[in-house]
Amino acid sequence: MARHLITSAIPYINGVKHLGNLVGSQLPADLYARYLRARGHEVLFLCATDEHGTPAELAAAKAGKAVAEYCAEMHRVQADLAAGFRLSFDHFGRSSSDHNRRLTQHLAVKLFEAGLIEERAERQVYSVADGRFLPDRYIEGTCPNCGYEKARGDQCENCTKQLDPTDLIEPRSAISGATELEVRETKHLYLLQSTLRDRLAQWIDGKRDWPVLTTSIAKKWLFDGDGLQDRGITRDLDWGIPAQFEGAPWSGMEGKVFYVWFDAPIEYIACAAEWAEATGRSDADWERWWRTDKGAEDVRYTQFMGKDNVPFHTLSFPATLIGSGEPWKLVDYIKSFNYLNYDGGQFSTSQGRGVFMDDALDLLPADYWRWWLLSHVPETSDAEFTWENFQLSVNKDLADVLGNFVSRVTKFCRSKFGEAVPEGGAWGPQEQTLVEELSARLAAYERHMEAMEIRKAAAELRAIWVAGNEYLQAAAPWAAFKEDPARAAVIVRLSLNLARLYAVLSEPFIPDAARTLRDALGAEDADWPTDLRAALEALPAGHAFRVPENLFAKIDDAQREDWAQRFAGTRG
Ligand SMILES: [Zn+2]
Repeated sequence: MARHLITSAIPYINGVKHLGNLVGSQLPADLYARYLRARGHEVLFLCATDEHGTPAELAAAKAGKAVAEYCAEMHRVQADLAAGFRLSFDHFGRSSSDHNRRLTQHLAVKLFEAGLIEERAERQVYSVADGRFLPDRYIEGTCPNCGYEKARGDQCENCTKQLDPTDLIEPRSAISGATELEVRETKHLYLLQSTLRDRLAQWIDGKRDWPVLTTSIAKKWLFDGDGLQDRGITRDLDWGIPAQFEGAPWSGMEGKVFYVWFDAPIEYIACAAEWAEATGRSDADWERWWRTDKGAEDVRYTQFMGKDNVPFHTLSFPATLIGSGEPWKLVDYIKSFNYLNYDGGQFSTSQGRGVFMDDALDLLPADYWRWWLLSHVPETSDAEFTWENFQLSVNKDLADVLGNFVSRVTKFCRSKFGEAVPEGGAWGPQEQTLVEELSARLAAYERHMEAMEIRKAAAELRAIWVAGNEYLQAAAPWAAFKEDPARAAVIVRLSLNLARLYAVLSEPFIPDAARTLRDALGAEDADWPTDLRAALEALPAGHAFRVPENLFAKIDDAQREDWAQRFAGTRG
């Protein structure tokens, strides 16, 4: 038994996430956490909402709410949706928690004491009417390159030219439309990441099992051009963690907060402290996951994220932890994902295009989505959601293969032997062959799950379901029953045990159906099979069961067409 710390990239607070967001970190992290728990490991699985920064302020203003109130509400919405998708977080925290505020301020002080933070003056656009400095993307104006009137201060969306706010013609505040803008001098704290370059490079060089995609992204940022850049870690905002120095305002930084990208990853640690507090545990209980001087030496830490988040997790966050000089646990393995596209285009939050988490649960139970998303996870390249493919996958894999097997064997047993596992007969060559095939497939399934090769794992699980169907079809208990009821009893007994085994093996992918199936079979024991033969005799003759409700309903063409139209754009 090992100890596994698992974190999923933390979703931003300003709204409900779409399925592309879900499959890019939280859902595969949940699969891995569930699998490791099933194998008997000790797991701490954490996620949180990322709550600071200008987008949260603007979303709150749009909703006519105070930002703290807005964030509290949206946190509840996201937590409910996570529960609806059966994401099995040990804790779903908040980056605005007291724990994160204290820890972020603490780490900043440690970095300062190590000589890794310095103050720099810079010139920024200030909006007199708004009474605030404006981040580049909140300044709008006419693009000097193409004449597009809604170009942003960092980039023109129309011609994609990178811009400085001062390039814009007739610049205005994107927040209020005010045109009275001035360039003012302001001071910010910078994290001197460039001085940590060699230590980070050395650490990354030690990660021989990381995918090339991950290490090449990190090395590009470390060495390309001028190399790793120092990073501003404060902003002129109200909403955030105040830049304080041991409880007192940081001299020269009064009224400023830490940049959201500095405090958000620190929430991975603070979330463990929140978990300990919420569950009545002590500080030592969370520190043994995060402090290598307090027991975290033997923890294996895996992070899940989209590929766009890789630089922050391979460089910025490790720079914070290494630079602090304190013995924090660093990540052991990063599992990163490409993008999921939607029906010939992209998921778009701003255009309301695609299926969002709340819509999805209104249409169908979580397992349908979990199965499709995980079996099509954008692992080695981008993937695409189409309604045709979703319909096909649900109808074939879930309804025809798994659902049909369970339905046939339980109903046949009820009609011929009653609602108890039949007795009589003994395994013959067909059963031996099946056990051999399943042993090989189970070993492959475990290998893929351990390596987090999720598509391969899903394909192997499906093959395990298919093997049961093929066995039942070939063994044909309905034919055997007429001549040799004992032979039919063997087949049915083994098939009912297979159904129990399927519930155990499928739980990480489709936890609700697995639960329904286990309940129907009266299978208390959900232990992962270490001896396949024994596992296929776990339900003894005479064991009572009931026929479960249909595990999965098929999606018909009319539904598919209706949904494809509904989610084509302009949600809400
Ligand atoms: Zn332009």
